[in-house]
Amino acid sequence: MAAATRQAGYIAAILKCVATGKISTIHTGRELLENGHPIVAENLSLTWMYEPDSPSAKDRVRKRFDEQLAIQVSAGVEFIMGETFCWLGEALIAVERAKKTGLPVMVTICFENENRTAEGKADAARELVDAGADIVGMNCPRPPEHMLGPLQPMRKAVPNAFIAAQPVAHRTPKDKPDFTSLPQFPFELDPLQLSRKEKAAYAQRAKDDGINYIGACCGSVASHIREMARVLGRLPAEQRPWTLNYEKPMSAYEYYDHDPTQVSAENVVQKAAK
Ligand SMILES: [Zn+2]
Repeated sequence: MAAATRQAGYIAAILKCVATGKISTIHTGRELLENGHPIVAENLSLTWMYEPDSPSAKDRVRKRFDEQLAIQVSAGVEFIMGETFCWLGEALIAVERAKKTGLPVMVTICFENENRTAEGKADAARELVDAGADIVGMNCPRPPEHMLGPLQPMRKAVPNAFIAAQPVAHRTPKDKPDFTSLPQFPFELDPLQLSRKEKAAYAQRAKDDGINYIGACCGSVASHIREMARVLGRLPAEQRPWTLNYEKPMSAYEYYDHDPTQVSAENVVQKAAK
């Protein structure tokens, strides 16, 4: 596999494989990561071609997914992710086509401003699991505050299945939880970005809620993922490759010898004042 593809896979693994450790497929990914070999995930997403009452439109979606899967599987992907499906019907087609590869399949739906799919269904988890998905859940376009609640009925509906959460990192109001429905979308979202501590708190709550696959979607950046990984016990500070003891520190972490318990806004301000 080309180096660029491998690197893309590594980034995908870091962004997507922040799991609690209950998922067998992610166990494999973790083992691979610990041995320097990341799991390589591929992605299917909404096609904008799905029409709920059109068999021919559904066949076009099948054909598009099959084309994408053929290319990605030939490149050696190890895990298939289908996400951002507002239509449960399109998500079910993604499961149907992805399962034919024989690889582990995760398919997540998205609720926009209502707690339902575009068809009006709130029980998406059961149908996705019955279709054969190994991991089901939600991603985009809501932040954790408005995703973890609606995930609870899904958690209860499929108690033996693995549940995924991949919320965005933009703060939204209760009456407009979909960040793409805000007037700030897409060019004024910066002030709405969640802090890394808020994303870490989300990761902890998701774990406490029984979410097995804890990830992130739009607006999430490296500092979010690092703090999520840290709170989940997945990235011990001493294992970070850049923990050098510089004599001329350029960051708070360097100043405090990479001890996260010492790095606080108060300490940084006090040191700067001396
Ligand atoms: Zn997203």
